[in-house]
Amino acid sequence: METENAVARLKSSRLFRTKGLIGGKWIDAYDGKTIEVYNPANGDVIASVVCMGERETKDAISSAYNAFSHWSKLTAAERSARLRKWYNLLIEHKEELGQLITLEQGKPLEEAIAEVVTGASDIEFFAEEAKRIYGDILPSPQPDRRMFVLKQPVGVVGTITPWNFPLEIITRKVAPALACGCTVVIKPSELTPLSALAAAELALQSGIPPGVLNVVMGDASKIGNSLLESPQVRKITFTGSTAVGKKLMAGAAETVKKVILLKFMFSVT
Ligand code: ADP
Repeated sequence: METENAVARLKSSRLFRTKGLIGGKWIDAYDGKTIEVYNPANGDVIASVVCMGERETKDAISSAYNAFSHWSKLTAAERSARLRKWYNLLIEHKEELGQLITLEQGKPLEEAIAEVVTGASDIEFFAEEAKRIYGDILPSPQPDRRMFVLKQPVGVVGTITPWNFPLEIITRKVAPALACGCTVVIKPSELTPLSALAAAELALQSGIPPGVLNVVMGDASKIGNSLLESPQVRKITFTGSTAVGKKLMAGAAETVKKVILLKFMFSVT
């Protein structure tokens, strides 16, 4: 009953999403498969969410790839303005988002709300920092040559995240990527996808264009392999177990992707 009441409140604020986000549209799994998300405090089923695999991931990658040409050409200030709106919306909805984290992840509400605030602050921070990505002018060894370093977004970033900080680990990875002009395909943990989907809904509301931020979830190894095999995905960022991190690193070598294995630190004061 407690779970049902909390879910009803979240549904009324449009933050309760159970489908994947591809190209700005909420999409069912192509074969209609779903998986259940549980409240770890009492074992209640909170929701059935889509269980996606290879085909949906390929489409999410294509959406992100197509969106890259427009998003990467905006100025850092233009991207920053949309990210600032996303930050504002996350803060505005921190109570509901905190409830969602508590519901699917199990941490106390106070810690869950602190996670939302810190996660939102990551967006604010990177949106500002991206305005100050400077290149370099290097002394040339030849008199008739000029040498400089230009920093550019790599392209589509595959983002794979765990259950323990279901919102903040996503914003920590996605905010710098979006701020500097990359687009993303997010695969949250199947144990805690609801916070990621709510954050994605707010990203849409903040005017981040369709396809810039996509979310797929379901069969972890099929989604992971599709991200690894795609030449359009230029970087993988992962937080989770060492065993999966090693697999991703090895798989990324085939298409020579950059890999970030991010250790995550968080403290509540
Ligand atoms: P933890 O259990 O500590 O969260 P995992 O490494 O098992 O660590 O999970 C972290 C993330 O990695 C989750 O989103 C999970 O679904 C995903 N994952 C697990 N196996 C694979 C895989 N073979 N390829 C890609 N992602 C995976």
